[in-house]
Amino acid sequence: TASIFAAVEMAPRDPILGLNEAYNADTRTTKVNLGVGVYYNDEGKIPLLAAVKAAEQARLAAQPPRGYQAIEGNPAYNSGVQNLLFGAGSDIIAEGRVITAQALGGTGALKIGADFLQRLNPNATVYISNPSWENHRALFEAAGFKVEDYPYYDASTRGVDFASMRAKLLSLQPGSVIVLHACCHNPTGADMTDAQWGEVVEACRERGLVPFLDMAYQGFADGIAEDSVAVNAFAASGLQFFISSSFSKSFSLYGERVGALSIITASKEESGRVLSQLKRVIRTNYSNPPIHGGAVVAAVLGSAELRAQWEDELAGMRVRIREMRSGLVAKLQERGVAQDFSFVIQQRGMFSYTGLTAEQVEKLRAEYGIYAVSTGRICLAALNSKNIDYVADSIAKVL
Ligand code: PLP
Repeated sequence: TASIFAAVEMAPRDPILGLNEAYNADTRTTKVNLGVGVYYNDEGKIPLLAAVKAAEQARLAAQPPRGYQAIEGNPAYNSGVQNLLFGAGSDIIAEGRVITAQALGGTGALKIGADFLQRLNPNATVYISNPSWENHRALFEAAGFKVEDYPYYDASTRGVDFASMRAKLLSLQPGSVIVLHACCHNPTGADMTDAQWGEVVEACRERGLVPFLDMAYQGFADGIAEDSVAVNAFAASGLQFFISSSFSKSFSLYGERVGALSIITASKEESGRVLSQLKRVIRTNYSNPPIHGGAVVAAVLGSAELRAQWEDELAGMRVRIREMRSGLVAKLQERGVAQDFSFVIQQRGMFSYTGLTAEQVEKLRAEYGIYAVSTGRICLAALNSKNIDYVADSIAKVL
């Protein structure tokens, strides 16, 4: 008899993971992988932060038992997340208008948020930026939503096409879900100005939209507080909204899966009801989150000394990325490249939409062993003092 899997078709390869496989199989010693979404240090390694090491050593020494966590996770962690997002002592926290559940990375937070929204309003359409992190569409579709996009990136200015974006938001059905990158837009590196965020908040209010902020890179643009401009604009508005946040990048804890979903409600009483329903979503997905990553982050955020150390290390990552941005632009100029690449310095976070065409990206791979996404997105955090000259040489040659 035929296998029950006989009709299962091979799924298409994930484009980024496919790129990684091709990179790993490449035998050239000069190869560089600019396709990843991970921060590497100047040695080309994923750092284990000293603050994380210290918190882990203390945990290992304490040998804590491994009972189940609460469905919504570690309370100290959840409160640490809220303080980072809104600032300790903010009104929204004091008034009990925010609930937070520890989640399996930013992706897990998006997923439980999407499942919760699906129960609330199954017929809503979800709008994501054009372009967006490639998993946004698939994730909300998998949760049962119709997903469309709103105009965002303008290739001619290398910035945000805000007029088109705003006009689109103002045309949407009430109840539509708007996924917004709170800072360090992935993949373009193009963020909105503070004033534009204010206008987005007003558009959401006017049309009765449901904002879902995705905060995967807090601290990678200008700093912890500086990068929560969007979050705080929504917090001040009195609107209800969602935030998925992640420590994958800011704590370099990718594989530990440390993120959180926060939901901002109208009142403390409403928060209680919303949390009770969110817990049902979590319970039927994975019951409760793992302990380790959340405990480490909570320990760092809860100790003045470790927190200061972490903020220093985070600043180190941020500054290094900025140096790679300005370094690449300067080196391209030194090589006589006519095209103006100075926009790379203005873009924020780990990525840049370089404007390299799919053919140029392919040539970089074939001739120089430099891997980038076919859209021209590169990860600046994959550049370092040893490979930046080679990358600049190679880009200059393919232009
Ligand atoms: N959202 C955005 C915009 C991202 O870029 C990423 C990671 O690349 C995520 C969410 C997922 O983060 P995590 O690895 O914590 O699931």
